[in-house]
Formats: sequence, structure tokens, C-alpha cells
Amino acid sequence: MNETVKAMERGDASRETLRKGLTLRGADQEALFALARVRRDAAFGGGAVEVRSVIEISNICKQRCNYCAIGSGSCEGQYLIEVAEFIERIELLSRVGRRVVLVQSGENDDQDFVDHVAACVGAAKQSHPDMVLLLCLGNMARAQYARLREAGADRYILKFETSNPELYHKLKPRDTLDNRLRCLKDLVELGYRVGSGNMVGLPGQTIEDMVTDILTLGFLDLAMSSCTPFIPGIETIYRDEPMGDVDLALNTMALVRILYPNRLIPTTSSLEKARPDGQYLGLMAGANTVTIHDGTPPERKDLFPIYDSKRFSPGEEHLMNAVRRAGMKPVQGALR
Ligand code: SAH
Repeated sequence: MNETVKAMERGDASRETLRKGLTLRGADQEALFALARVRRDAAFGGGAVEVRSVIEISNICKQRCNYCAIGSGSCEGQYLIEVAEFIERIELLSRVGRRVVLVQSGENDDQDFVDHVAACVGAAKQSHPDMVLLLCLGNMARAQYARLREAGADRYILKFETSNPELYHKLKPRDTLDNRLRCLKDLVELGYRVGSGNMVGLPGQTIEDMVTDILTLGFLDLAMSSCTPFIPGIETIYRDEPMGDVDLALNTMALVRILYPNRLIPTTSSLEKARPDGQYLGLMAGANTVTIHDGTPPERKDLFPIYDSKRFSPGEEHLMNAVRRAGMKPVQGALR
């Protein structure tokens, strides 16, 4: 077996080993993925995949991230899904058997918006107490996270995107890495099950940055970790930059799985956008969750162009096919 994979198997998490692990290709990369799958299956058993749906509750955003098309202003028409419509969507998802729903939005810390999401979460939990609700709403004050937790939210995803503070500030000129990490600390302390992670292949990002990202995931008390290849959105200032390297992203996922085996790791739509069959490959590299894009009302979908308005929006058939081919089993409900 490849020396780096052997070192990973022994629990070596040195920068040197991680750096080499990121650059494995061909048969050596296959061996890395195989070890990741062994670790995943030992931690979760039975090749289980957590199935989620996503409701993109609002595209209103104050942040203006340079990599995101919502912030570029190209997105016509702001929207906010009202409580009644939110509950209709939850009903619909419940009828198709879904038990885990991700609620995503732009970054908006207006108290009215926070109160609105709290009302949606509260109503959803009242009618469907068994529904697990994950929020992905960006930075907020601790008291706002507390309000949403009290309303019934179970988990929160807040990616630190990059652990390089200068690069972070370049990507998100209105924010700092320190502030993002403060938010993560608050979320953990408030009792959420928290997810975080990075993007791979960002303009100006180095392999050393990616190694630090992987190690940073170990300093945080996380239940979920996510890595996406950078997509140069056509409506953003990065439109002429190269697409993030899918192999680096897949190797990051595999390394994260080996180092932190008990976490939920998604295989994201950006993998598929960057390479056909990317989401299947994500499962082969150690992922164990999929998100079906069937929660947002169809007429609103184009108004939530995270990386661009031609975003790949995976449906149930595509994802179930990938899960089946990976020899795994979809599970409706929280894996952890
Ligand atoms: N506004 C929320 C949700 C952002 S979208 C927040 O800031 O937390 C969810 C994730 O998609 C982001 O955290 C980021 O990691 C990923 N993402 C967004 N734009 C991307 C792009 N252009 N390429 C790759 N990943 C991207």
C-alpha cells in the first residue's frame, strides 16, 4: 500500500502526510478512498446515507461574498418564503418521507428575519416533531442563534470557507475569519450539532492553506464537515478563474473522513457541477449525506444562485442512482 495511506491508517496527521495525501492520484488515490470508506462504514455501519431536502427560505443577503452570485447583484428579485408556504413545503416533504430538512438563506441578521425563521421552525416542529431541522443562515449574534435553537432548530451549518484570514477577508470583504469562528463557538456552546468546512481551489489558495483547513476542522467540536470544490460563478468577479480541482476536493473529503470518522459528510452539487458523476465520487471518497433540491418552491429556485444561476440542482433520481451505485442505502432520518 502507498506509504502515505499507511501513515494515515496509523493515525499520522502531520502536515507532511496531509500534504502528500491531498496530491495522491490514480491507484494511490483509490487506496485513500478505500481507507475512508472503511472508516465511514466502521463508524456508521451498513453504508447508510442521510437523505435531506433543502428549502432556500430567502435570498436576501447583506454579505456580498465575492464567490457568490447572490452577492453580485445579478439576482433579480428578493424573496422571503412566508410561514404558511414554508409549512406547505414541509408537508410536501414529509409526505414523500423526508425527515431531515436544511433551511438555507443569504446572510441576514435583521431581527425581523431571525424572528421569521424562528416562527417557521417553531411551526414546523409543532406539526412534525420528528422532523430534524438544519439551519444554514450565516453569521448572527449569539442571542439570535439562541432564539433559533429555542424555536427548535437541531443543527447549524456554518462553513469557515478558508482558514487563511487574509484570503477569507478577500472573499468576504465585510467579514473576518475571527468573527466566523466566534459564530461557530457560539453555535457549539448553544447545543447545536454543528457543521463546518472549506472550499477547495479558491483563487489564491495554496495546498498549505488546505492542510490548515483540514487541521482546523479538528479543533472544532463538529458533527458535520463539508468540502466543496470552488465554482467560478459566471455572474461573479471570479468568472475567469479556474474551477476548483475535484481531485483535491475529493482527497480533502477522504482525509477528513479518516481523521474524523464520526462526522456526517455531504456529497455536494458543486462536485457534480465541477465533474460529471462528482457526487457518486464523493460517496466513494467517504461522504454519507445527500441533499435533494426539492424543498424550495420551483418558481424561486433560480432566485437562489449560490455559485451561479446555472447551478446543478440534483433531484431524487440522480442522487438515489449515485447512492445505489456506491453500494450504499438511503436513510430517511438523522444518522446521528
Ligand atoms: N449564506 C450562507 C449559506 C451559503 S451557501 C452562509 O454564508 O453560510 C452554502 C455553502 O456553499 C457556502 O458556505 C460555501 O461553502 C458553498 N459555496 C457557495 N458559493 C460557492 C462557490 N462559488 N463554489 C463552491 N462552493 C460555494
